[in-house]
Amino acid sequence: MPQQPDVSLDGLYGDLVMDHYRNPRNRTPLDDADVEAEEFNPFCGDRATFQLSLDDDGMVAGVSARSEGCSIIQAATSMLSSLLPGKSLGEVEELGTSYRESMRNGLKDDGVDGLGDLLALQVVRQYPVRIKCALLPLVALEEGIKAYRSKS
Ligand code: ZN
Repeated sequence: MPQQPDVSLDGLYGDLVMDHYRNPRNRTPLDDADVEAEEFNPFCGDRATFQLSLDDDGMVAGVSARSEGCSIIQAATSMLSSLLPGKSLGEVEELGTSYRESMRNGLKDDGVDGLGDLLALQVVRQYPVRIKCALLPLVALEEGIKAYRSKS
């Protein structure tokens, strides 16, 4: 796999990105996933895989998130995974909408709530070609939710 030059990230947000990159959350695979999703970007080799298990009320009870590729996708996958437990799939999609909006257009006063560590990925907006890396895990998650709904 070609080694991509990585972004240089300074400051608190950069530290948070590096923390998730070095210590990704929720990497343990689930045996009993209800939602499974994978998305791959053949141009840069980024890959994100999610598994979610839902409780009887349809809330996210278990999360597994794995990724390969650059530091941005690995951090973004971990950050997104950390925000999912306890949410309904509808709430996950709302979070995704706010997150995508924040990456494309920057932060607005409303819509910042709930983004948690994903706020740190605002630093990636300095590198527009890398926004795709930051959003790939979300694309995976959305596809997985869509597939889950279509079979249930
Ligand atoms: Zn990437």
